[in-house]
Amino acid sequence: MTSDKKYIYSFEEASLDLKPILGGKGASLGEMTSLDLPVPPGMTITTEACNLYFEKGEELPDFLEAGIEEYLKELEEKTDKNFGDDNDPLLLSVRSGAIISMPGMMDTVLNLGLNDKSVQGLAKETEDERFAYDCYRRFIQMFGNVVLKIDSHKFGRKLDELKNEVGADDDLDLTVEDLQELVSRFKGIIKQEAGIDFPQDPMEQLITAVEAVFSSWNNKRAIVYRDAHDIDHDLGTAVSIQTMVFGNMGDDSGTGVVFTRDPSTGANELYGEYLLNAQGEDVVAGIRTPKSISSLADSLPEVYEQLVEVTETLEEHYQDMQDIEFTIEKGNLYLLQTRTGKRTAKAAIKIAADMVAEGLIDEEEALLRVEPEHIEKILHSQIDPDAETEVIAKGLPASPGAAAGKAVFSADEAERLAEEGEKVVLITLETTPEDIHGVLAAQGVLTTRGGMTSHAAVVARGMGKPCVCGCEAVKIDFEAQEFSAGGQTINKGDHITINGGTGEVMVGHVDMIEPNLSEECQQLLEWADEIRDLGVRANADTGPDSSQALEFGAEGIGLCRTEHMFMAADRVPIVQKLILSESDAEAEEALAKLEPMQCSDFEEIFRAMQGAPVTVRLLDPPLHEFLPDLPELIEEVTELRIEGKQEKLREKEELLRKVKNMSESNPMLGFRGCRLGIMIPEIYKMQVRAVFKAALKLLEEGAAVEPEIMIPLVTHVNEFKILREQVEEEIDQLLAEAGQELDYKVGTMIELPRACLTAAEIAKEADFFSFGTNDLTQTTFGFSRDDAESKFLHYYVDEEIIEANPFITLDNKGVGKLVKMAAKDGKAVNDDLKVGICGEHGGEAESIAYCQEYGLDYVSCSPYRAPVARLAAAQAKIQSE
Ligand code: PEP
Ligand code: MG
Repeated sequence: MTSDKKYIYSFEEASLDLKPILGGKGASLGEMTSLDLPVPPGMTITTEACNLYFEKGEELPDFLEAGIEEYLKELEEKTDKNFGDDNDPLLLSVRSGAIISMPGMMDTVLNLGLNDKSVQGLAKETEDERFAYDCYRRFIQMFGNVVLKIDSHKFGRKLDELKNEVGADDDLDLTVEDLQELVSRFKGIIKQEAGIDFPQDPMEQLITAVEAVFSSWNNKRAIVYRDAHDIDHDLGTAVSIQTMVFGNMGDDSGTGVVFTRDPSTGANELYGEYLLNAQGEDVVAGIRTPKSISSLADSLPEVYEQLVEVTETLEEHYQDMQDIEFTIEKGNLYLLQTRTGKRTAKAAIKIAADMVAEGLIDEEEALLRVEPEHIEKILHSQIDPDAETEVIAKGLPASPGAAAGKAVFSADEAERLAEEGEKVVLITLETTPEDIHGVLAAQGVLTTRGGMTSHAAVVARGMGKPCVCGCEAVKIDFEAQEFSAGGQTINKGDHITINGGTGEVMVGHVDMIEPNLSEECQQLLEWADEIRDLGVRANADTGPDSSQALEFGAEGIGLCRTEHMFMAADRVPIVQKLILSESDAEAEEALAKLEPMQCSDFEEIFRAMQGAPVTVRLLDPPLHEFLPDLPELIEEVTELRIEGKQEKLREKEELLRKVKNMSESNPMLGFRGCRLGIMIPEIYKMQVRAVFKAALKLLEEGAAVEPEIMIPLVTHVNEFKILREQVEEEIDQLLAEAGQELDYKVGTMIELPRACLTAAEIAKEADFFSFGTNDLTQTTFGFSRDDAESKFLHYYVDEEIIEANPFITLDNKGVGKLVKMAAKDGKAVNDDLKVGICGEHGGEAESIAYCQEYGLDYVSCSPYRAPVARLAAAQAKIQSE
């Protein structure tokens, strides 16, 4: 079989645009060759050849073998050496190179072409017998391991054995005779393990090595790596065959890696390490400690100077930080690879901003270089990457950042200890509204139940508190005040650390890196603000959170969940009185107490927002959430019955009856949201009065306010009509009494499929829509947002039944289709309709790109995500163009 298709490229024929078939290494070797940089000549066999090799049942087709031979002749001419020559042999390296970098995952063979004869030629030509046999023993080991699949440790042990016998501490202490002996013992391993003599034919060595490197695409670690990084298993690897240069030819030779900038801080200085008199695998094996690159300036000053020059050329050419592999052979520098360097969040941000200042890239490019997660990371404490950790359990990464503190098992305890100045992590089954004081007091929260949009997760994200949710491996024993996980028992007061970015739970207090919104980051975000179309608002319901939102660049509050104001410990009893009241007078008394409290909350928020719009959502959750827990109450009543305490019993029985009355089988679909507002109008009226009394107070002081009232959970236009009328009546009366005028808006959450389907009707009545995609995802999928993640959703995602967790990334095909349609239908009938999103998706980069596509006006997310949203919105805009 022959082929017209080109499967082999010399480095002169290769270039960056051929990366999809030549892999990163092959393409970069070609690109560097065309830049006239010192690259040892060679060829690259394409990823398509790799796929062909797999199609043929892991056999190289004859025409490919012939092709390799042809290119080899060219290489012999270029180097003036012959492959397998007895006097001055051409030696080769055979290395893998995937399209997406998979560092260290696949195999490499160096020093190929050596045999019993050519090793002597190499010795003569280099006048260095020791060097020649050092290469030979390395080659036999690598060939044995990569091609013949013999465990590398077998060779390592033989080496150690010999070193012991001759009393050598270091490999470099071995003499020529020692190395010759080692070669013979290594050949013995080959014979014993593979049942063959070590192949002496260089062409056979080459072809089998190419095959083995192709096959290494499917070794176990490569497969695991691809799974972890979502890399397609069908891509295949390219193989580069390159003339060997030797770093092990004495103290004017060596090998190393250099980054054009510091990959951990982003500082514009060379960063890297090298080893003199060594080959690549010595650095990896860690036999000797490599030296920092700056010291190369002392040991080989001319080479260092050349390296500086080359790194500048490469960075300018690629316009990005490069990670470069080099070898020095007898004072001559050679480049073996360059690729875009991996970097930390901090470095990514600094490098992007610096490169704009240096005129290397423009602002848009800089914005695309930074990942939204980079911003997220630097806004929160992070586990120090050098810290030792002992992970005992893993839950959902519900709110990013790391937190450490003493384990406590109740919100009250968390609050008490925090008041004493202790740092605590609150561990509980799930948080309820009543635990909010504990969440506030704790460094972080760990729950064993609940998903990414559970109360704990939403509240923690809103506060920027690290949170791990749904961590079922953690078994709490409340009685003993301890939990067990991963075979360990953690008592109350023991230190633990959680990582809300990964979901990990660790023993002890792990070292951390503190958050830091650097100048470069601020600069990038300002560029993002200039570019983006989407507005960015924040979900906040306290004064401090609102200030934080403003500081992080939010342009208003897109969702103030007023129920959070009902949850403060001193208010819950009043709220309970309201809910359980049996006469109008009782209810009015409770409402009269709540109104000034809410009013002062709104005043604080308006003040913090300095005239920016504030969307206040009227009460949403089912009322029973504010009542005592039903099973607990039943237990209490049972105990009182046994004890015979009649008076107390009657009181609790009455409470139990009312709580039972209020309880629902399906509270998420039950008596909540605007349904409450319609059935108990007094609550919404009180809330509206509180909002506008606060607004009037600021107006009187000459401050600006822009209140917006939002009705939750509307499914039928009539619900909205009724409530809008009620709300406006209350507001207009207040304004008239005060003799003031104030523009305000009344809009609605769109969070039920029927609301989306009838958006045109609703839009005629509303000033704005805000998509509540938490509930909309729940009701479109029919997945309970509280339970799905701990029961089946992860299995669904792992098994690829669904593409992603729809509570994290907006489901574009289903939920997104509803959003897009509703936004379009709404805007078609109401030119002034403002359309935003305030579900958790409003702070997630991929979902934000969908929002841009659907033509929304703004996104609203937790204050700590506002910077992420600003960047993601700018990226979405740039990419949409
Ligand atoms: C939503 O449903 O997306 C929303 C923002 O409201 P909540 O999470 O408070 O139900
Ligand atoms: Mg909702």
